[in-house]
Amino acid sequence: MTTLKQQVPRSAAPSALTAVQHKPMLLIVDDHISNLQLLYGIFKNDYEVCRASSGAEALAFCQIRLPDLILLDVVMPDMDGYAVCQRLKGDTLTQHIPIIFVTAKSDPVEEARGLDMGGVDFISKPLRIRVVQARVRAHLSLKQQSDVLRSLALVDALTGVANRRHFDTALRAEWRRCIRAGQPMSLIFVDVDFFKRFNDHYGHPAGDACLKAIAQVLKRGLPRSNDLVARYGGEEFICILPGTALAGAESKARELERAIRDVGIAHSTSDVCGVVTVSLGVATAFPTRGADPAALLACADNQLYLAKQAGRGQVKSFQLV
Ligand code: GH3
Ligand code: MG
Ligand code: MG
Repeated sequence: MTTLKQQVPRSAAPSALTAVQHKPMLLIVDDHISNLQLLYGIFKNDYEVCRASSGAEALAFCQIRLPDLILLDVVMPDMDGYAVCQRLKGDTLTQHIPIIFVTAKSDPVEEARGLDMGGVDFISKPLRIRVVQARVRAHLSLKQQSDVLRSLALVDALTGVANRRHFDTALRAEWRRCIRAGQPMSLIFVDVDFFKRFNDHYGHPAGDACLKAIAQVLKRGLPRSNDLVARYGGEEFICILPGTALAGAESKARELERAIRDVGIAHSTSDVCGVVTVSLGVATAFPTRGADPAALLACADNQLYLAKQAGRGQVKSFQLV
């Protein structure tokens, strides 16, 4: 069993792209140890079961790992289940986690209140084991289906990497995480050199295949689970590297430049060399409250422009203060 004291880093950004691949994780929240033990016993063989004994502990846990479902006690001291639910539903990081309220109160008004707040179900105490198991199973199955749909809405159809919408959400979420962790964040803009000429010379289908190949190289080059590669638009890609300082991002960008060049896709009409190359703009900042990631994005874009101006097939980088 994992408890809050055994936290491990979240396995991925708030990404539905990977959400369906792991053993489902349940978070049980209850201020009574006997209830935690009972629910743990019911689910330990089928799921990864984590426990929190207060609302605050549950919220802190969800900032580090994302459960697939939460069984949430309604009546708890300090922060009750409704307040916890409200906080989770108000955060883009945690809003998709299904919440089942567990309560001794079997009052229709209370039940309606919980469902209005975004809870998916209500289970009353004393717990009937078969019913609890069946409801959890049903809601996990729905969660997995909605994860798949959400993941499709976040993927670029041509290249299979994250799309612009996913990038926009991930950028804000990772920005907040870096603020909390006191870590830097780097962005790398990647743009294919003379790609219009490539299409004109080799045809649009070859252009598409080239974009797919480049996306794969970028993904392979950024295997860390918190990094994100996205198609920003057209023949431009962008990479988010949370927790990476300028020196690391710059050397990663050089590696990516080299790796794409080394694929050796012929580009006879490029002024850089005979194969497809990319230009890269790197920018790093220390995210702070009140600051906007848009400035970091603009900076990376500007560095990309400088890389183009300097002759393409190269990296330019800048550290924002
Ligand atoms: P630069 O080196 O300055 O970046 O020049 P460029 O030709 O790459 O830049 P430009 O913005 O002039 O042209 C981008 C080209 O990318 C034009 C467009 O047709 C092509 N493109 C954008 N999206 C796609 C796509 O999905 N598939 C293909 N095959 N081509 C695309
Ligand atoms: Mg280009
Ligand atoms: Mg471009």
